[in-house]
Amino acid sequence: MNQETVAGSDLKEIEEFLGGLGIDGRHSRRLLYWVYRRGIRSFEEINDIPLKFLRVLSENAVPGLSLPIASEVSSDGSVKYLFTTKNGMAHETVFLPDGKRRTVCVSVQSGCRMGCRFCATGKNGWNGNLTAGEIVNQVISIPHEITHIVMMGMGEPGDNIDEVIRACRILTAGWGLAAGRSRVTVSTVGVTPSVRRLLDETECNITLSLHSPFPEERLTVIPAEARWPFAATLDMLKQYDNRIKRRFTVAYVMIEGRNDTQRHIEELKRLLAGTGIRVNLLPYHPVDEEDDRSSDMSVMMQFKHELVTSGIGASVRKSRGTDIAAACGMLAAKSSHGVKKMNK
Ligand code: SF4
Repeated sequence: MNQETVAGSDLKEIEEFLGGLGIDGRHSRRLLYWVYRRGIRSFEEINDIPLKFLRVLSENAVPGLSLPIASEVSSDGSVKYLFTTKNGMAHETVFLPDGKRRTVCVSVQSGCRMGCRFCATGKNGWNGNLTAGEIVNQVISIPHEITHIVMMGMGEPGDNIDEVIRACRILTAGWGLAAGRSRVTVSTVGVTPSVRRLLDETECNITLSLHSPFPEERLTVIPAEARWPFAATLDMLKQYDNRIKRRFTVAYVMIEGRNDTQRHIEELKRLLAGTGIRVNLLPYHPVDEEDDRSSDMSVMMQFKHELVTSGIGASVRKSRGTDIAAACGMLAAKSSHGVKKMNK
């Protein structure tokens, strides 16, 4: 029997679905509350919808949530979780606690097609897109209270934009997870038509993975630059009528000698001064035997200083979870071999 999956559905779809089963549509919000906020894996856990309706529901639908199958804890407190879809597509999720801020970094695809040079995920190919239900499941089904959600794990959001936009709506809607829109960030290499849709159809924050302010240098690391030049995305962000104060950020992974010179900082300042777009400076994690290594912290701090004194908001992100290869966007697509198996 083909059963409907509640996780990934919106309020209107559930109202119509329940209506088709002869169940009063007024129960829709309660059903979504139990799935999205309480994370139920069986409708039997619901205690405020009449039993006769729950029986009909159980025959025709499933909540559609699943627990991670493995986890690995870093010495700094971050935790990597391994999920798998019904079709066996592995994807990773990272929990990053930092004081009161508790961020979850979710995947939007199993693997990635973008092939960025500094990324372990990109080196391991692509298995398929995750559904919106599978994206939000990663937020709901890890055992932590979450304050911030970033789509910065495996996969390129711009390459799965329908499901990413649907997931953004579920994460922020009152009938969904009700996360404030300022707490949800989508990180992209800048798939231009998808960024346009993110701007028009969501209110989430957007991070552009830049790497270099020079297109020809960026191209050597981010092949997507050939098809979607970053300049087009930056123009869209600059021209956006940002009345609701969405946060736009440029992520800049710093590699010694390659993109951390004075020439780079001057061009970054030229591109970003006066735009309100912030810069997030990130340490580089070598993914294999490459010679490249991260810029020194002193260089990163100097970069930050120069940006800030030019009126550009900037921050340096700490290296997290290096012992478990858990940095967002650099999740090693390693198998669950050697990863602690969880009790289901
Ligand atoms: S950095 Fe992001 S877009 Fe690039 S290969 Fe890795 S997961 Fe894909």
